Amino acid sequence: MDLGGLLARGFLLKDQLHDKPCERCGLLYDARESACPHCGGLDAAGLHMLLAEKDREQEGNASMGRIFLLIGAVLAAFVLVGFLSL
Ligand SMILES: [Zn+2]
Repeated sequence: MDLGGLLARGFLLKDQLHDKPCERCGLLYDARESACPHCGGLDAAGLHMLLAEKDREQEGNASMGRIFLLIGAVLAAFVLVGFLSL
């Protein structure tokens, strides 16, 4: 068991309690920090790229959700067919 990794994860979870969404880029960052580490050093073009990347990530998550929905629907259909054939 990786105790160090577990501890690091615990600290990460603890840190997330202080997270708040950035008004500029929408990403979460530590509210105790004065500037957002994601977009703080970025100009308008850099911010645009960051947001485009974020959108791509969310699209990926959405398609993943659709796949799980499809799997769920197929499983439900199998259960229904099994139930009806009883
Ligand atoms: Zn930001």
